[in-house]
Amino acid sequence: MCLTIPAKVISVEDSGDNLPLKRITIRDSRGERSITALFEDIRAGDWVLYASDMAVEKISEDDAREILELLEPRSHIDISRLDSVFLEILKACHTRELRREEIIRLLHASEGVEMEALLSEANTIRQARLRDFFCIHGIIEFSSHCVRNCLYCGLRRDSNDIQRYRMRPDEIVNSVYDAVNRRGYKLIVLQSGDDFYYTDDMLCDIIRKIKEKCRVFIFMSVGERSRTSYEKMKDAGANGVLFRFETSNKAIYNSIHPGQSYDERIALLLEMKKLGYFIATGFLIGLPGQTVEDIADDIITIKSLGANMVTVGPFIPSDVTPLALHPAGSAAMTLKVTAISRLLTPKAKIPVTTALETIENEAGRKLGLSSGANALMFNLTPEKYRGDYMIYPNKYHGKEEFWEKYGLYKEELSYKMLEKKMSEAFEE
Ligand code: SF4
Repeated sequence: MCLTIPAKVISVEDSGDNLPLKRITIRDSRGERSITALFEDIRAGDWVLYASDMAVEKISEDDAREILELLEPRSHIDISRLDSVFLEILKACHTRELRREEIIRLLHASEGVEMEALLSEANTIRQARLRDFFCIHGIIEFSSHCVRNCLYCGLRRDSNDIQRYRMRPDEIVNSVYDAVNRRGYKLIVLQSGDDFYYTDDMLCDIIRKIKEKCRVFIFMSVGERSRTSYEKMKDAGANGVLFRFETSNKAIYNSIHPGQSYDERIALLLEMKKLGYFIATGFLIGLPGQTVEDIADDIITIKSLGANMVTVGPFIPSDVTPLALHPAGSAAMTLKVTAISRLLTPKAKIPVTTALETIENEAGRKLGLSSGANALMFNLTPEKYRGDYMIYPNKYHGKEEFWEKYGLYKEELSYKMLEKKMSEAFEE
């Protein structure tokens, strides 16, 4: 489903075609325009949600203001106050690929007008390329078991004192069914630790059963498995993978992923791409030893992998890991990376990560969505398991029901819109 910016109705007139439609004039942050309302009961002063020049739903003023609070774009920036080199880089992103040193300069954007200009530019590009639609997707974390030992993760194999769970295959299928057929989601990520209790056959069976019952895009986030495993899941109906490389600095990668290889991870991502998966990938900000230059290389790696979805979040320390005392990644750097990712991949899906929301709370959601991000990923893991998927502590949970209530297009049209967007992402 998607969210869109509401508008106030300024005036109403009959369509004149003996149809139960009205022509209405609305006003939003981009001015006034005339659109068609799909319902008769409407008058000046009402608020509506609209899309593609159609008002599709009336909405209360209070709720409209709450949505505006979340989705309204940043205010205009006085670019005359910008350093000329910085300004040239922002202009250049419209006509050519940015060079590594230019990305580094943007990452060094100072607080104040430079940072505001960068985030605002990304937001403008998001609006120009993707209009005022913000996708809402769901994630179901179906197993907190993991055979790996990543130093930053609370689910690592050596975390002995945590409560772990595995959802039964029928529970997973039923949770997706509920999310899609009752709540209106059209894209669900199925996530777990690297848990080989779930064999390829089990995962494929789950995917097939979901696809029999639901019109939904399924993204698998089940870690490092063989190319053959991913081929089988693709054949079973999986559409995408969520598989982060975490850092492109091999020395850092090796130091935090005992027994794993950066080259193998990237090779697997490339194989997934060849298999036709929609690729969601990204990295962590604030890892030990990570420099701004490393982050620039991470952004370049995302671009070179042809990522269709960019997922970047700040590192958050967990008490049960060896990095418990390492400081959390910076929200400001996360926003800069979100913005630069938008400049480099204008049509990519960029969700606001839960990690950003966790360190910034509700403000993180708004900051992300006004800095180039265009999607939210809601946690749909059943309540009884949710608290036990503790990659890091105090995970943020927002007002999902409110946003679900105003998510537009929960029927077939929404699936078709997403399908179109996904195929466009492949064309880039
Ligand atoms: S980051 Fe993923 S693979 Fe690594 S320990 Fe955590 S759940 Fe396992």
